Amino acid sequence: MSRYWNPQLLALSPYVPGEQPRSRDLIKLNTNELPRGPSPKVLEALRQASDDRLRLYPDPESTRLRETWAGQLGLKPEQVFLGNGSDEVLAHTFKALFKPDQPLLFPDITYSFYPVYSQFFDLDFECVPLAPDFSLSLAEYRRGNGGIIFPNPNAPTGLFTPLQQIEELLQSNTERVVVVDEAYIDFGGESASGLIDHYPNLLVIQTLSKSRALAGLRVGAAFGQAQLIEGLQRVKNSFNSYPLGRLAEVGAVAALEDVDWFEAMTGELVQTRDSLSASLQQLGFEVLPSAANFVFTRHSTCSAVTLYEELRQRDILVRHFKQARIDEFLRISVGTPEQCAALLTALEDILA
Ligand SMILES: *Cc1c(COP(=O)(O)O)cnc(C)c1O
Repeated sequence: MSRYWNPQLLALSPYVPGEQPRSRDLIKLNTNELPRGPSPKVLEALRQASDDRLRLYPDPESTRLRETWAGQLGLKPEQVFLGNGSDEVLAHTFKALFKPDQPLLFPDITYSFYPVYSQFFDLDFECVPLAPDFSLSLAEYRRGNGGIIFPNPNAPTGLFTPLQQIEELLQSNTERVVVVDEAYIDFGGESASGLIDHYPNLLVIQTLSKSRALAGLRVGAAFGQAQLIEGLQRVKNSFNSYPLGRLAEVGAVAALEDVDWFEAMTGELVQTRDSLSASLQQLGFEVLPSAANFVFTRHSTCSAVTLYEELRQRDILVRHFKQARIDEFLRISVGTPEQCAALLTALEDILA
């Protein structure tokens, strides 16, 4: 705390990201990054673009990337908004599209940035409890709201909500925006982006951080009808008109274009996830059915804190949330098959 601070800072409780340790020898299964590096075509495109042009400001609208992403999803470029990671896209969404007259709704167990942004942008919120099986009870969201947001698949549970339920919510909530945060959509879910032309109140958010192995490049996007996107542009252009650097745009285009790499990597990850889930079950773990690149799991006898600490001593980092209802769970990012084998060996050792 400093006497020079704006006093409003005292009321903020910032988001706490998963640990990024300095040591390279750790098996890092705590922040849902892909275990392998990005497409070699991305790295080549970044090298090609690293020259004197970096003295110039980038295209403020990242036109090439908007066209590429729109083309892949069957949308128009004016239905795409880009930001410096989807966290920034989310921030602009809270500012531009949620109304302060009624509480914003999101699940009680979900991405912990939502309450942080609510507070930051002075929006009241209500948490809607997940059902006992951790599914999203979308029927509970049919009440007055300033907007609705949830991830699909949800984090940290990994559960996917069928699009039909999302459509029913969109139809019953026509006066307010419904935001579907699809950070993990490429690991088995089905995107709501195909519904955009039917629902003016739908905003879909995606990121290159997870399924394209580009968390370090910081590229996220929102998709929606042009009027929603214009609202986001207004906020962006009042905050930072150049959210994507030249390299970020070039790398992102190359990532989207390398469909073969994308399909191979997500395919391998899904296979590894499903065999990891089966092996964990054999060790006495309950594993929620995951459509993401992580599993959410608890053991029948051994506490989550014990497992977390014992794994850490063996140089394996997973995520534990000290939160009611889920404090007996661990969220484990799916690593390479070798990393998952090392995890399973360590768990056998701990449980013995
Ligand atoms: C990882 C994640 C994000 C943020 O991703 P960026 O790296 O900022 O693009 C957003 N929402 C959820 C649910 C996430 O898990």
